[in-house]
Amino acid sequence: MAKIEDNAREQRVGLKCPQCGEFIQTSIFELITSSGLQCPACHLRLAIDRMKSKPAIDALKRVKLAQDNLEKNSHFNR
Ligand SMILES: [Zn+2]
Repeated sequence: MAKIEDNAREQRVGLKCPQCGEFIQTSIFELITSSGLQCPACHLRLAIDRMKSKPAIDALKRVKLAQDNLEKNSHFNR
C-alpha cells in the first residue's frame, strides 16, 4: 500500500520537445495550472491547448484530487 502511494506522489509526466527532442519533464499540477511549458534545452515555449486537451486535463485533475485525498487520509492516520 505504501509503495503505491509513493509511486503516485512521484509520478512524472512530460512530453518530447518538437524542436530538439529533449524530454520536457513537468508535473501533473503544473500541467493543470500553467498555460505553457518551456523546453530546458532549447527554451522553446509550448502552449498547452486547453480546449483540445480538456479531457486529458480533466483526467489529470481527478488524479490530483485523488492524491490530495490520499495525503489528507495519511494525516488522519497519524
Ligand atoms: Zn527543445
